[in-house]
Amino acid sequence: MDVSANRAFDGLGATRDFYKAVFNRDSIDGRGMRLTAFVHYDKRYNNAFWDGHQMVFGDGDGKMFSDFTGSVDVIGHELAHGVTENTAGLEYHNQSGALNESMSDVFGSLVKQWSLKQSADEADWLIGPEIFTPGIDADALRSMKAPGHAYDNDLFGKDPQPDNMENYIKLPDNEMGDFGGVHFNSGIPNKAFYLTAVRVGGFAWEAPGLIWYESLKASHAETQFQEFANTTYRKAAELFGDDSAEQLAVLAAWQDVGIQISGILAGVARARSLAADRSGGTGGENGLATVSQQIGALAAQVTGLAKDVTALKSK
Ligand SMILES: [Zn+2]
Repeated sequence: MDVSANRAFDGLGATRDFYKAVFNRDSIDGRGMRLTAFVHYDKRYNNAFWDGHQMVFGDGDGKMFSDFTGSVDVIGHELAHGVTENTAGLEYHNQSGALNESMSDVFGSLVKQWSLKQSADEADWLIGPEIFTPGIDADALRSMKAPGHAYDNDLFGKDPQPDNMENYIKLPDNEMGDFGGVHFNSGIPNKAFYLTAVRVGGFAWEAPGLIWYESLKASHAETQFQEFANTTYRKAAELFGDDSAEQLAVLAAWQDVGIQISGILAGVARARSLAADRSGGTGGENGLATVSQQIGALAAQVTGLAKDVTALKSK
């Protein structure tokens, strides 16, 4: 018996069952695509990725990372890249790339929450809490509940994810720059989803998940944060009605991360007061330098998760 193989099998099965049960979607391509996985890839390999045909899992180096099959939200994250490729096809750079990453965190976390039957209040909203070794002082790779607070240690530095547009990180659109910070700025839409889910309450895969899934399907390769936020607001009305609790939760959530839904006058004052509250913060220059250093330090480790889509594109 191989523990990794069993966990990979269970993780892929849970993901497939999730899409069928929650969104009536037949596998990640919507056409019953067979899901296969390869475990123990390479030697001490610190990553997992979807190559367009199968999931590939490394065992981790045992120092920083342990077996990547151990985290169902990481499995759900990687497979969600396949769903995005087969729906909006969000380009993997800058804001569309950060949305692509965020979709994978949203649906990866929802697969876990659905498997465990956790409400929004009960969920940990963490991505990859299991993949660090016990010797590494880190909660997870990312926190959707508190972007920027998943880890803070000597090895990785501090989690650099922003949770608001005011702290949006501008990075070069190349591999060193994480293609414009796709794994960093995803913290902003991640937080918007989390806030929507806790405001709506109950199971996050129900109303919030459905709004995000329908908005993903209504998006396209170049969709930016603003357009996606507007789409979620429109979809919330189509699904649950104008001024429904779900739609107001969406509106407030995007306001809280610094994105005002286009054409919504009622919320403008509140959004501006929020912006004013935060205007005393320090400028972005020091933050950018720090983040650039961290990217250098992290190198092929944490930000190496960018490789998943690079591999997907080169299939
Ligand atoms: Zn990813």
